[in-house]
Amino acid sequence: MTALIAVVGRPNVGKSTLFNRLTGKKLAIVDDQPGVTRDRHYASAHVHGQNVTLVDTGGFDPDSDDPMQQGIARHVRAAIAEADLIVCVLDGSASPTAPDREAVALLRRSKTPVIYVANKVDTSQQVSAANELYELGINELVTVSALHGRGTSELAQAIASKLPAEPAPAPVDEASSALPRVALLGRPNAGKSSLFNRLAGSERALVDARPGTTRDPVDARIESHGHRFLVVDTAGIRRRPRVERGIELVSVLAAIRSIERAQVVILMCDAAAGVSEQDARLLGLCLERRRAVIIGFNKTDLLKKAELAKAEEQAREALAFAGWLPLVRLSAKTGRGVPELVGLVASATEQYKRRIPTGELNRFFKQVLERHPPPTSNGRAPRIFYVTQAESEPPLFVAQSNAPEYIKDSYKRFVASQIRKSFGFTSVPVVVEYRKRKQTQR
Ligand code: GDP
Repeated sequence: MTALIAVVGRPNVGKSTLFNRLTGKKLAIVDDQPGVTRDRHYASAHVHGQNVTLVDTGGFDPDSDDPMQQGIARHVRAAIAEADLIVCVLDGSASPTAPDREAVALLRRSKTPVIYVANKVDTSQQVSAANELYELGINELVTVSALHGRGTSELAQAIASKLPAEPAPAPVDEASSALPRVALLGRPNAGKSSLFNRLAGSERALVDARPGTTRDPVDARIESHGHRFLVVDTAGIRRRPRVERGIELVSVLAAIRSIERAQVVILMCDAAAGVSEQDARLLGLCLERRRAVIIGFNKTDLLKKAELAKAEEQAREALAFAGWLPLVRLSAKTGRGVPELVGLVASATEQYKRRIPTGELNRFFKQVLERHPPPTSNGRAPRIFYVTQAESEPPLFVAQSNAPEYIKDSYKRFVASQIRKSFGFTSVPVVVEYRKRKQTQR
């Protein structure tokens, strides 16, 4: 299991610079459609051998540039609710401010471990100025320069030392551990709990009741219409988000937590309320993690036939950057669409694990590349030598090219869509990484 680390702090203290320092250069997602989120506000990383997910809370909150102070308190509350560890970034080149005091006061009252960082300490001469921050009542301060990389390895060490011990693996039996892992995701009120109850009630559900905090994942074994799978993190589904501002950030953090544990995500959307920016954002998060996704278009019982067609059109438009995904007309209330949904879960799991042999990929590519070679760009004729599936669970393809920087995005989308269509990746994003390689001698 990966630990969730939230980075909080006022605007302009250098959170995103520090975030980029800690995560390094990440894989870029390339898909058939433009518009997949390219935010780099969260990333997986290894910190001293442990898997962590880092989240820049500011990046998920459009109000974070708000010069007013309220932003930070919201972020801190969300981080306290969901994160395993909080990195609180302060400005080491300035005196503490009222929002800093407020943030620290909240953090000191919480049980979540916190690391306080003084950023913008570019030279060792500036350390003593940063020490002024101790007056906030904190015990330990790591001084860094996110811009120049100073102190960041000490910070990684501090993070490693404060990470919660890896939780004992859930006491699921072997039969359960082989089952597909499915997360139910969606905005509050989309119908996640209702769908869960329907799935669980339809035949049989075994809940692994693990004692511990509400944050411990609780998985439920589902058997429905001839398919078996685990719904992960059911505590998260049942937990009622507090209705207050900042709720969206809390649900984004909770969503990240569930996505990390799942292979397949059922994204529940409310057909009656309409698909929103927030739904698109959640979908972006799933695709970024290369998870298989099925859109559960719920509450269709509330719409007449013509209304439903219109609502679906609107939904497809809002999620057009992943227009290839399956959408199921559902009603958690009447059970409509549930058999189709569980069938799609089985096929999505299979795609998530699918491995295309290199020979097969290359036969296919030879045909595609001969018919549609990469177009020349700035006088260069980039070539693709071969493509392999470097990873499965989830799939990742690697294309070797003499000049990857000259392959246009439109051509990359074409390649991804060809792979998608030819090999039937209807639920899983097809991601192709282009790597540079010298021309092979023949
Ligand atoms: P959650 O917050 O995503 O878990 O949403 P809930 O499952 O609690 O559902 C929110 C509200 O929508 C409840 O009042 C449900 O009864 C209602 N609801 C959920 N699914 C459906 C559906 O398919 N049709 C109708 N008419 N109402 C639904």
